[in-house]
Amino acid sequence: MADSFDVVVIGGGPGGYNCAIRLGQLGLKAACVDKRGAFGGTCLNVGCIPSKSLLHASDLYELAKHDFEGYGIKTGGVSIDLPAMMAQKDKVVGELTRGVEFLFKKNKVEGIVGAAKITAPGQVSVTGKDGVRTLSAKHIVIATGSDVMPLPGIAIDEKEIVSSTGALTLGAVPKRLLVVGGGVIGLELGSVWRRLGAQVTVVEFLDRIVPGIDSEVAKQFQRLLEKQGIAFRLSTRVTSVEKKNGVLVAALEPAAGGAKESFEADVVLVAIGRRAFTDGLGLDEVGVKRDARGRVATDAHFATSVKNIWAIGDVREGAMLAHKAEDEAVACAETIAGRAGHVNYNAIPSVIYTYPEVAVVGKTEEDLKAAGIAYKAGKFPFSANARAKSTHSTEGFVKVLADPKTDRILGVHMIGPDVGNMIGEASLAIEFSASSEDLARTCHAHPTLTEALRQAAMAVEGWTMQI
Ligand code: FAD
Ligand code: NAD
Repeated sequence: MADSFDVVVIGGGPGGYNCAIRLGQLGLKAACVDKRGAFGGTCLNVGCIPSKSLLHASDLYELAKHDFEGYGIKTGGVSIDLPAMMAQKDKVVGELTRGVEFLFKKNKVEGIVGAAKITAPGQVSVTGKDGVRTLSAKHIVIATGSDVMPLPGIAIDEKEIVSSTGALTLGAVPKRLLVVGGGVIGLELGSVWRRLGAQVTVVEFLDRIVPGIDSEVAKQFQRLLEKQGIAFRLSTRVTSVEKKNGVLVAALEPAAGGAKESFEADVVLVAIGRRAFTDGLGLDEVGVKRDARGRVATDAHFATSVKNIWAIGDVREGAMLAHKAEDEAVACAETIAGRAGHVNYNAIPSVIYTYPEVAVVGKTEEDLKAAGIAYKAGKFPFSANARAKSTHSTEGFVKVLADPKTDRILGVHMIGPDVGNMIGEASLAIEFSASSEDLARTCHAHPTLTEALRQAAMAVEGWTMQI
């Protein structure tokens, strides 16, 4: 006989585990199935958390090596113990993935390890190490996430030609790292290995890095990364990578076509995006439709083409971000429980955890121009912020965009120190439909970096006081 549940959630990442936990809180009997062996999905196991751990560790190394002296601190020589750096990262990952199991227990969710397949509406078979288990469910939530986008002509071995997963576990610092893709992964992991001593070259197909980010921010970002030593080859693509005489040789070609050139590297990181992961789920057999990009097609409330089968997170449309998956998880669980689940996509921030950080929320100037929406802008540089001065971190700026008639904030774009933590205030402002004046008249503690956001909001009406 099948084990029966109100809801079976397939995938234990930020989408799946948060959905199952919220369902448990709402009194529904939920199971969460993941084939990985540890819950937490891409994010906790091979994504957000290990990358942020290495970004922090490598940042500390760089500070100790190059910046301590500027504060009057002498260290007497600093070196890296890479195995220890990797071990502390693995420890953090282990603690967090076990934390998900604890939350499952607390909220009466059954966590099941195995590969799930939807065999019929309301039925899921799970193949685990002890055989096949059949689950019946009133609802099924697909939260199977995403996987690395492959690049034809380049075979990833996760040792020398790596995806983000291999780049998080390299056994030695490569002398030359070639990064294919000037997006978030390429720049975060490129920064890690550059700080640890690699010569990093980023090859980007487009004529700019980080597409989708405000172009003024992107330009300054590239300039600052170049100053740190990362080389960029824009409007260029990599067509193949081969091993010759023990060295990787990549073929680079202008994006518009033209003569190829060879580029030597010790490690190549392929980071050209991720694609929805639906392999082995049985979607076609049960009639769950996909969109043109292979993602599970859903309506605005996460319902797929089959009644009572839902999809959330990276596997459906939208930004591939852990907090977007989490917000959809809560909204989907609440909808299933008969409540009104809703996600405000305009208030979902995006952060790049390099130095300096990039953090954005809402519409960019390019979005607004393309849509023919008028806006006014206020800007403030960190070079005029007292806290940034006292911490020697004055590069970057904050930009606030607001409606010229209503003054409602339309977007906030920042590059600078710790802006990943500052963006929460801007997201809240957009969520609450705040005006730039609301931000400008809110008291901000002195001396803090958040004063730069307040000053940028003041600048919308031209009454910035600190420059
Ligand atoms: P996932 O986290 O991918 O989880 C899906 C799970 O489903 C997986 O564990 C998989 O094993 C399981 N699964 C798939 N098919 C089956 C099946 N048939 N049966 C059972 N289980 C199955 N986002 C941020 O917001 N901030 C960051 O800093 C950030 N950093 C990142 C760094 C890297 C290197 C990478 C790769 C990604 C990063 N992301 C970040 C993106 C983030 O990881 C994803 O957006 C997020 O994990 C998506 O959550 P999800 O639940 O939709 O899917
Ligand atoms: P991305 O979409 O951010 O960047 C991929 C880049 O590769 C783009 O700039 C694209 O133009 C370029 N590109 C595509 N094909 C190319 C080719 N053939 N040659 C050269 N360049 C090429 O993708 P990513 O960096 O792989 O990250 C995947 C996803 O993971 C993103 O959607 C991101 O949201 C998520 N992520 C988020 C964070 C974060 O929030 N801090 C960190 C890491 C990953």
